[in-house]
Amino acid sequence: MGLPITSASRLTLVLFVLSLSLVSFSGCRKEKNVIDIAGGCTFSGTKSEGEIDISDPEPAVEEVITSILQIIGIPKGFTVHKGDVQGIIAVKQEDKRYIIYDEVYLNEIRRGSNGYWVERAFFAHMIAHHISNHGLKIEPGRSLTELEADKFVGLTLQKMGASSSDVLEALNMVRNTLKEDHYPEIISRISATESGWNQSGGSTNPVNTFSERPYDGGGVPTTSSSLSRGEIAGFLTRWSEAQSYYNFSNYADCYSFGFQGMKMNKKGRRVYFDYYGWLNDRQEMYARAMNLSVRASEIRVISRDDWGTTIQFTQDYYSDSYQDRGEKLMKLHKDSEGAIRIVYEEMLSSY
Ligand SMILES: [Zn+2]
Repeated sequence: MGLPITSASRLTLVLFVLSLSLVSFSGCRKEKNVIDIAGGCTFSGTKSEGEIDISDPEPAVEEVITSILQIIGIPKGFTVHKGDVQGIIAVKQEDKRYIIYDEVYLNEIRRGSNGYWVERAFFAHMIAHHISNHGLKIEPGRSLTELEADKFVGLTLQKMGASSSDVLEALNMVRNTLKEDHYPEIISRISATESGWNQSGGSTNPVNTFSERPYDGGGVPTTSSSLSRGEIAGFLTRWSEAQSYYNFSNYADCYSFGFQGMKMNKKGRRVYFDYYGWLNDRQEMYARAMNLSVRASEIRVISRDDWGTTIQFTQDYYSDSYQDRGEKLMKLHKDSEGAIRIVYEEMLSSY
Protein backbone atom coordinates (compact mmCIF):
# COMPACT_ATOMS: atom_id res chain seq x y z
CA MET A 1 0.00 0.00 0.00
CA GLY A 2 1.57 3.32 -1.10
CA LEU A 3 1.89 6.38 1.02
CA PRO A 4 -0.75 9.06 0.42
CA ILE A 5 0.65 12.03 -1.51
CA THR A 6 0.49 15.10 0.64
CA SER A 7 -0.02 18.51 -0.92
CA ALA A 8 3.57 19.45 0.08
CA SER A 9 5.08 16.52 -1.76
CA ARG A 10 2.74 17.19 -4.70
CA LEU A 11 4.17 20.70 -4.89
CA THR A 12 7.72 19.28 -4.81
CA LEU A 13 6.83 16.96 -7.67
CA VAL A 14 5.38 19.81 -9.71
CA LEU A 15 8.47 21.91 -9.10
CA PHE A 16 10.71 19.00 -10.02
CA VAL A 17 8.90 18.37 -13.31
CA LEU A 18 8.90 22.10 -14.03
CA SER A 19 12.66 22.41 -13.41
CA LEU A 20 13.28 19.38 -15.67
CA SER A 21 11.39 20.98 -18.52
CA LEU A 22 13.24 24.26 -17.96
CA VAL A 23 16.59 22.45 -18.24
CA SER A 24 15.58 20.74 -21.46
CA PHE A 25 14.11 24.01 -22.81
CA SER A 26 17.30 25.99 -22.20
CA GLY A 27 19.34 23.06 -23.54
CA CYS A 28 17.25 23.18 -26.67
CA ARG A 29 17.73 26.92 -27.04
CA LYS A 30 21.47 26.57 -26.77
CA GLU A 31 21.56 24.08 -29.64
CA LYS A 32 19.26 26.17 -31.82
CA ASN A 33 21.90 27.31 -34.28
CA VAL A 34 19.83 26.39 -37.27
CA ILE A 35 19.68 28.86 -40.15
CA ASP A 36 17.28 28.92 -43.07
CA ILE A 37 19.51 29.69 -46.07
CA ALA A 38 16.81 30.33 -48.72
CA GLY A 39 17.78 33.16 -51.08
CA GLY A 40 21.36 33.33 -49.81
CA CYS A 41 24.25 34.06 -52.16
CA THR A 42 26.47 31.11 -53.04
CA PHE A 43 28.89 33.11 -55.25
CA SER A 44 28.86 30.32 -57.86
CA GLY A 45 25.14 30.90 -58.41
CA THR A 46 23.92 27.47 -57.29
CA LYS A 47 20.62 27.18 -55.43
CA SER A 48 20.55 28.02 -51.73
CA GLU A 49 17.73 26.46 -49.71
CA GLY A 50 16.97 24.40 -46.59
CA GLU A 51 17.98 24.62 -42.96
CA ILE A 52 21.52 24.01 -41.78
CA ASP A 53 23.41 23.83 -38.48
CA ILE A 54 26.14 26.34 -37.81
CA SER A 55 29.13 26.36 -35.45
CA ASP A 56 32.09 28.58 -34.61
CA PRO A 57 34.58 29.33 -37.41
CA GLU A 58 38.30 28.59 -37.34
CA PRO A 59 40.45 31.59 -36.32
CA ALA A 60 42.19 31.72 -39.74
CA VAL A 61 38.86 32.57 -41.39
CA GLU A 62 38.15 35.35 -38.91
CA GLU A 63 41.59 36.75 -39.74
CA VAL A 64 40.87 36.82 -43.48
CA ILE A 65 37.53 38.57 -42.84
CA THR A 66 39.20 41.13 -40.57
CA SER A 67 41.94 41.83 -43.13
CA ILE A 68 39.33 42.61 -45.79
CA LEU A 69 37.27 44.82 -43.47
CA GLN A 70 40.38 46.78 -42.47
CA ILE A 71 40.90 47.81 -46.10
CA ILE A 72 37.59 49.60 -46.22
CA GLY A 73 37.19 50.54 -42.56
CA ILE A 74 33.55 49.54 -42.33
CA PRO A 75 32.15 47.80 -39.23
CA LYS A 76 31.31 44.12 -39.49
CA GLY A 77 27.54 43.87 -38.94
CA PHE A 78 27.45 40.09 -39.55
CA THR A 79 28.78 36.88 -38.02
CA VAL A 80 30.90 34.11 -39.56
CA HIS A 81 30.26 30.39 -39.06
CA LYS A 82 31.23 26.95 -40.17
CA GLY A 83 28.26 24.94 -41.45
CA ASP A 84 26.97 22.23 -43.70
CA VAL A 85 26.56 24.36 -46.84
CA GLN A 86 27.71 23.74 -50.40
CA GLY A 87 30.64 26.13 -50.60
CA ILE A 88 30.41 29.56 -49.00
CA ILE A 89 27.20 31.56 -48.59
CA ALA A 90 25.98 34.94 -47.41
CA VAL A 91 22.50 34.87 -45.94
CA LYS A 92 20.11 37.14 -44.10
CA GLN A 93 17.59 35.65 -41.71
CA GLU A 94 15.18 38.05 -40.08
CA ASP A 95 17.49 40.97 -39.29
CA LYS A 96 20.62 38.93 -38.70
CA ARG A 97 23.34 38.52 -41.31
CA TYR A 98 25.63 35.50 -41.67
CA ILE A 99 28.54 34.19 -43.71
CA ILE A 100 28.67 30.40 -43.56
CA TYR A 101 31.36 28.21 -45.12
CA ASP A 102 31.91 24.50 -45.59
CA GLU A 103 35.27 23.49 -44.14
CA VAL A 104 36.03 20.84 -46.79
CA TYR A 105 35.21 23.24 -49.64
CA LEU A 106 37.34 26.01 -48.16
CA ASN A 107 40.32 23.67 -47.81
CA GLU A 108 39.92 22.64 -51.45
CA ILE A 109 39.98 26.29 -52.49
CA ARG A 110 43.13 26.90 -50.48
CA ARG A 111 44.91 23.95 -52.07
CA GLY A 112 43.72 24.90 -55.56
CA SER A 113 45.19 27.29 -58.12
CA ASN A 114 45.81 30.76 -56.64
CA GLY A 115 44.06 29.62 -53.44
CA TYR A 116 45.22 32.59 -51.36
CA TRP A 117 43.35 35.09 -53.56
CA VAL A 118 40.39 32.87 -54.38
CA GLU A 119 39.60 32.51 -50.68
CA ARG A 120 39.77 36.28 -50.22
CA ALA A 121 37.67 36.90 -53.35
CA PHE A 122 34.89 34.59 -52.09
CA PHE A 123 34.81 36.19 -48.65
CA ALA A 124 35.04 39.76 -50.03
CA HIS A 125 31.98 39.04 -52.21
CA MET A 126 30.00 37.83 -49.19
CA ILE A 127 31.16 40.78 -47.05
CA ALA A 128 30.02 43.17 -49.81
CA HIS A 129 26.44 41.89 -49.63
CA HIS A 130 26.33 42.51 -45.89
CA ILE A 131 28.07 45.86 -45.57
CA SER A 132 26.03 47.18 -48.53
CA ASN A 133 22.77 46.20 -46.83
CA HIS A 134 21.74 44.05 -49.78
CA GLY A 135 18.37 42.36 -49.21
CA LEU A 136 19.60 38.87 -50.29
CA LYS A 137 16.12 38.04 -51.52
CA ILE A 138 15.09 36.86 -54.94
CA GLU A 139 13.55 40.11 -56.23
CA PRO A 140 14.02 42.52 -59.16
CA GLY A 141 17.49 44.00 -59.10
CA ARG A 142 19.01 40.99 -57.34
CA SER A 143 21.44 40.28 -60.21
CA LEU A 144 22.59 43.89 -59.94
CA THR A 145 23.58 43.35 -56.29
CA GLU A 146 25.67 40.37 -57.45
CA LEU A 147 27.56 42.66 -59.85
CA GLU A 148 28.10 45.15 -57.03
CA ALA A 149 29.52 42.43 -54.82
CA ASP A 150 31.84 41.35 -57.66
CA LYS A 151 32.92 44.93 -58.17
CA PHE A 152 33.70 45.20 -54.49
CA VAL A 153 35.95 42.12 -54.84
CA GLY A 154 37.97 43.98 -57.48
CA LEU A 155 38.09 47.16 -55.37
CA THR A 156 39.29 45.51 -52.15
CA LEU A 157 41.60 42.85 -53.54
CA GLN A 158 43.43 45.44 -55.66
CA LYS A 159 44.11 47.35 -52.44
CA MET A 160 45.35 44.13 -50.83
CA GLY A 161 47.90 43.71 -53.62
CA ALA A 162 46.19 41.30 -56.04
CA SER A 163 46.76 41.50 -59.79
CA SER A 164 43.68 41.60 -62.03
CA SER A 165 44.18 37.95 -63.01
CA ASP A 166 44.43 36.98 -59.32
CA VAL A 167 41.06 38.63 -58.76
CA LEU A 168 39.43 36.90 -61.74
CA GLU A 169 40.62 33.44 -60.70
CA ALA A 170 37.58 33.02 -58.41
CA LEU A 171 35.23 33.60 -61.36
CA ASN A 172 37.18 31.15 -63.52
CA MET A 173 36.50 28.58 -60.82
CA VAL A 174 32.72 28.94 -61.14
CA ARG A 175 32.57 29.58 -64.89
CA ASN A 176 30.78 26.31 -65.67
CA THR A 177 28.49 26.16 -62.65
CA LEU A 178 24.79 25.67 -63.35
CA LYS A 179 23.47 28.95 -62.01
CA GLU A 180 20.09 30.28 -60.87
CA ASP A 181 18.34 32.96 -62.97
CA HIS A 182 19.03 35.80 -60.54
CA TYR A 183 22.80 35.63 -61.14
CA PRO A 184 24.30 37.64 -64.01
CA GLU A 185 26.18 36.12 -66.93
CA ILE A 186 29.80 35.31 -66.12
CA ILE A 187 31.00 37.83 -68.72
CA SER A 188 29.18 40.64 -66.86
CA ARG A 189 30.62 39.47 -63.56
CA ILE A 190 34.14 39.55 -65.02
CA SER A 191 33.55 43.10 -66.30
CA ALA A 192 32.20 44.24 -62.94
CA THR A 193 35.18 42.73 -61.11
CA GLU A 194 37.64 44.32 -63.52
CA SER A 195 35.91 47.68 -63.25
CA GLY A 196 36.25 47.54 -59.44
CA TRP A 197 39.93 46.69 -59.78
CA ASN A 198 40.49 49.56 -62.23
CA GLN A 199 38.53 52.03 -60.14
CA SER A 200 40.59 51.13 -57.10
CA GLY A 201 43.69 52.43 -58.87
CA GLY A 202 44.74 49.26 -60.63
CA SER A 203 45.06 51.22 -63.84
CA THR A 204 45.30 54.95 -64.50
CA ASN A 205 42.00 56.78 -64.21
CA PRO A 206 40.56 57.26 -67.68
CA VAL A 207 40.41 60.76 -69.08
CA ASN A 208 36.88 62.12 -69.10
CA THR A 209 36.10 63.16 -72.65
CA PHE A 210 32.37 63.71 -72.22
CA SER A 211 32.06 66.35 -69.52
CA GLU A 212 34.44 68.31 -67.34
CA ARG A 213 34.14 67.08 -63.80
CA PRO A 214 36.28 65.31 -61.22
CA TYR A 215 36.13 61.54 -60.89
CA ASP A 216 33.02 60.82 -58.81
CA GLY A 217 32.63 58.19 -56.12
CA GLY A 218 29.63 56.37 -57.63
CA GLY A 219 29.90 52.63 -57.55
CA VAL A 220 31.43 52.50 -54.10
CA PRO A 221 29.13 51.82 -51.14
CA THR A 222 28.80 54.68 -48.68
CA THR A 223 26.61 54.93 -45.62
CA SER A 224 23.24 55.44 -47.15
CA SER A 225 22.50 58.51 -49.21
CA SER A 226 18.92 57.54 -49.90
CA LEU A 227 16.98 59.48 -52.51
CA SER A 228 13.53 60.95 -51.94
CA ARG A 229 10.71 60.51 -54.47
CA GLY A 230 11.06 64.19 -55.41
CA GLU A 231 14.79 63.82 -56.08
CA ILE A 232 14.17 60.75 -58.23
CA ALA A 233 11.46 62.47 -60.29
CA GLY A 234 13.61 65.58 -60.72
CA PHE A 235 16.59 63.54 -61.81
CA LEU A 236 14.58 61.53 -64.38
CA THR A 237 13.23 64.77 -65.87
CA ARG A 238 16.78 66.06 -66.28
CA TRP A 239 17.87 62.75 -67.81
CA SER A 240 14.90 62.58 -70.23
CA GLU A 241 15.31 66.20 -71.33
CA ALA A 242 19.05 65.80 -71.93
CA GLN A 243 18.13 63.11 -74.47
CA SER A 244 15.08 64.79 -75.98
CA TYR A 245 17.00 68.05 -76.54
CA TYR A 246 20.16 66.18 -77.51
CA ASN A 247 22.31 67.83 -74.87
CA PHE A 248 24.97 65.17 -74.74
CA SER A 249 27.18 66.68 -72.06
CA ASN A 250 24.16 66.96 -69.71
CA TYR A 251 23.32 63.36 -70.56
CA ALA A 252 26.90 62.23 -69.80
CA ASP A 253 26.75 64.12 -66.50
CA CYS A 254 23.85 61.89 -65.43
CA TYR A 255 26.21 58.89 -65.39
CA SER A 256 28.72 57.91 -62.72
CA PHE A 257 32.27 56.98 -63.69
CA GLY A 258 31.58 53.74 -61.83
CA PHE A 259 28.60 53.05 -64.12
CA GLN A 260 27.65 49.61 -65.40
CA GLY A 261 24.98 49.10 -68.02
CA MET A 262 23.38 46.04 -69.57
CA LYS A 263 22.04 45.97 -73.10
CA MET A 264 20.66 43.21 -75.34
CA ASN A 265 22.56 42.91 -78.60
CA LYS A 266 20.95 41.89 -81.91
CA LYS A 267 21.52 38.21 -81.10
CA GLY A 268 19.62 38.56 -77.82
CA ARG A 269 22.70 38.28 -75.61
CA ARG A 270 23.17 40.52 -72.61
CA VAL A 271 26.10 42.84 -73.24
CA TYR A 272 27.82 44.79 -70.50
CA PHE A 273 29.03 48.39 -70.86
CA ASP A 274 31.13 50.58 -68.60
CA TYR A 275 30.81 54.40 -68.49
CA TYR A 276 32.85 55.04 -71.66
CA GLY A 277 31.43 52.11 -73.59
CA TRP A 278 27.87 53.19 -72.80
CA LEU A 279 28.36 56.84 -73.71
CA ASN A 280 30.18 56.03 -76.93
CA ASP A 281 27.36 53.69 -77.90
CA ARG A 282 24.66 56.29 -77.06
CA GLN A 283 26.48 59.16 -78.70
CA GLU A 284 26.44 57.30 -82.00
CA MET A 285 22.80 56.28 -81.62
CA TYR A 286 21.54 59.75 -80.63
CA ALA A 287 23.50 61.46 -83.39
CA ARG A 288 21.45 59.43 -85.89
CA ALA A 289 18.06 59.73 -84.13
CA MET A 290 15.69 62.36 -85.53
CA ASN A 291 12.96 63.98 -83.37
CA LEU A 292 14.05 61.98 -80.37
CA SER A 293 11.87 61.98 -77.29
CA VAL A 294 12.34 59.95 -74.08
CA ARG A 295 9.74 59.84 -71.31
CA ALA A 296 9.72 58.09 -67.93
CA SER A 297 6.45 57.24 -66.17
CA GLU A 298 5.12 54.92 -63.44
CA ILE A 299 8.28 55.32 -61.39
CA ARG A 300 8.60 52.76 -58.56
CA VAL A 301 11.29 52.35 -55.90
CA ILE A 302 12.43 48.71 -55.83
CA SER A 303 15.03 48.79 -53.05
CA ARG A 304 17.50 50.96 -51.22
CA ASP A 305 20.97 49.99 -50.06
CA ASP A 306 24.36 51.62 -49.55
CA TRP A 307 25.12 51.65 -53.29
CA GLY A 308 22.01 53.71 -53.96
CA THR A 309 18.32 53.54 -54.73
CA THR A 310 17.06 51.04 -57.31
CA ILE A 311 14.06 52.19 -59.32
CA GLN A 312 11.94 50.80 -62.13
CA PHE A 313 9.87 52.81 -64.58
CA THR A 314 8.13 52.64 -67.93
CA GLN A 315 10.18 54.24 -70.68
CA ASP A 316 8.69 55.58 -73.89
CA TYR A 317 11.32 56.08 -76.55
CA TYR A 318 10.42 57.78 -79.78
CA SER A 319 12.45 58.72 -82.82
CA ASP A 320 11.45 58.90 -86.49
CA SER A 321 13.20 55.62 -87.23
CA TYR A 322 12.59 53.65 -84.03
CA GLN A 323 9.99 53.58 -81.22
CA ASP A 324 9.50 51.37 -78.24
CA ARG A 325 7.95 51.19 -74.78
CA GLY A 326 9.46 49.09 -72.01
CA GLU A 327 10.41 48.60 -68.40
CA LYS A 328 13.73 50.02 -67.29
CA LEU A 329 15.70 49.22 -64.13
CA MET A 330 18.02 51.94 -62.91
CA LYS A 331 20.12 52.49 -59.81
CA LEU A 332 20.83 56.05 -58.67
CA HIS A 333 23.63 57.11 -56.35
CA LYS A 334 23.85 60.39 -54.46
CA ASP A 335 27.39 61.43 -53.57
CA SER A 336 28.56 63.39 -50.52
CA GLU A 337 28.03 66.68 -52.41
CA GLY A 338 24.44 65.73 -53.23
CA ALA A 339 25.04 65.05 -56.94
CA ILE A 340 22.82 62.25 -58.27
CA ARG A 341 24.14 59.92 -60.95
CA ILE A 342 23.18 56.63 -62.55
CA VAL A 343 25.35 53.69 -61.47
CA TYR A 344 23.34 51.02 -63.28
CA GLU A 345 20.86 50.83 -66.15
CA GLU A 346 19.14 47.90 -67.78
CA MET A 347 16.16 47.48 -70.10
CA LEU A 348 14.15 44.65 -68.52
CA SER A 349 11.65 44.24 -71.33
CA SER A 350 10.23 46.12 -74.28
CA TYR A 351 6.86 45.77 -75.91
ZN1 LIG B 1 26.55 37.30 -54.22
